[in-house]
Formats: sequence, C-alpha cells, structure tokens
Amino acid sequence: MLQYLRDVFELAFPNNCVECRKTLFNFETTICSSCLESLPRTHFEKQADNTIVRLFWGRCELEMATSLFYINKHNKVHHLMHQLKYKNKPLIGQRLGKTLGLKLIEEGSLFSEIDMIVPVPLYWKKEQQRGYNQALQIALGIQQATQWKVEENNLVRVIENISQTKRTKYERWENVSEIFEVKNPEAIQHKHILLVDDVITTGATLEACVHALKKVEGVKVSVASLATVER
Ligand SMILES: [Zn+2]
Repeated sequence: MLQYLRDVFELAFPNNCVECRKTLFNFETTICSSCLESLPRTHFEKQADNTIVRLFWGRCELEMATSLFYINKHNKVHHLMHQLKYKNKPLIGQRLGKTLGLKLIEEGSLFSEIDMIVPVPLYWKKEQQRGYNQALQIALGIQQATQWKVEENNLVRVIENISQTKRTKYERWENVSEIFEVKNPEAIQHKHILLVDDVITTGATLEACVHALKKVEGVKVSVASLATVER
C-alpha cells in the first residue's frame, strides 16, 4: 500500500527529489542538491592508493579504481541504489553517474586519460526483466559530464551466474574468466577503458570483466563505481 501511494505521488509530482520528495529547482534533476551533498563521499578518485585499488591487488591489473560514495544498510546511498536496481528508476543512475563523471575530470583526479566507458553488462535475460542495465545508465551519466564515448554491447555476459561453490581455486578462476566475452576486440585495442558498475562489494564481477577485456591487445582498464562498503 505504501509503495502504491509512493507510485501515485511520483506520477502526480514527477519533479520531486526521489530521496526527500522536495520539489526540484529547474537546475536539478532526479535528486535535489541538498540530498546529493549529504551523501558520504570517498574522494578515492584523487588517491592512487585506496581500498578499491587494494581490493584488486593480486587479482587483476588496473590503472586506477574508485567508488564515489560509501554504502551501508542504513544510509541514503543504499536507498538510492535499491531504487536504481529494483524500483525502475534508471534516471538515478544517470544523475549520480553525472556527479561521478564531474569528479573524474576535476583537478587532482587520477582519471585523466580515458578513451571509452564500458558498463558491466547484465545477462540478457536479467536486463530484459529489469528493462535496463543500471551500469549503462551510470555510464551515460558519466558521458554527460566527460564527453567520453560509451562502448555499448561489446563486452557481453555469456554466463548468468558465478557459481563458485565446491570448486578448486583453479576451476574457479577458469569459471570467472569465461563469464564475459568481448565481441569486437578491434574496437577496444590499445584503449584505456573505464569499466563502470553500480556497487563494488567483493569485486568478483569486475575482476571477471577485467580478465575478458585484458585478453585484447594493449587494453588498459580503470574501474569506477557509484558505491562501495567501508573497509
Ligand atoms: Zn532531496
């Protein structure tokens, strides 16, 4: 019932903040400035050594890695990520992606030489169910801020789940490296790719993507996400 009332409210007042419901100003979209400013920032884009960089140590080779916000069960970031993934709110991805993009090109950022953005793909069936890929929405937001090209539908997910149980370490690696596939390697040869996802927890999905991308000659990869847990 509560959700129903919320949906009705949003139909009646589409120009309200998805977080606090306050009316948006003309210069605001989807989330109001005061909610945006209240989200807990990491500032990782300016730190060559941060917990996301460390998360991938010994797993795959990255140029740089960052997350924009900290997420925990009780904060606004969690609520926004939940709406982005499960409540048919793709514009949250674009709005926060734009904020992330602006940070990536700010003075002092270590993400200066990106050639293209690649969103982490969903398995086709999952994308069909959800109606959109949230990582692509974030990529589009980053593009609005940076003008970096979005390379869509080149990296694809060919296996639905990472089934890691009851496997040896070697088999697990084999499994992970075959989840994603690059369809057109020529298009990304010798490019510096910004790989984009919504939330980084274990990093297993991103690691699998990096393995697939790195099979292509001369590819460099950096990683950016909207949120991560505090480590
Ligand atoms: Zn708000």
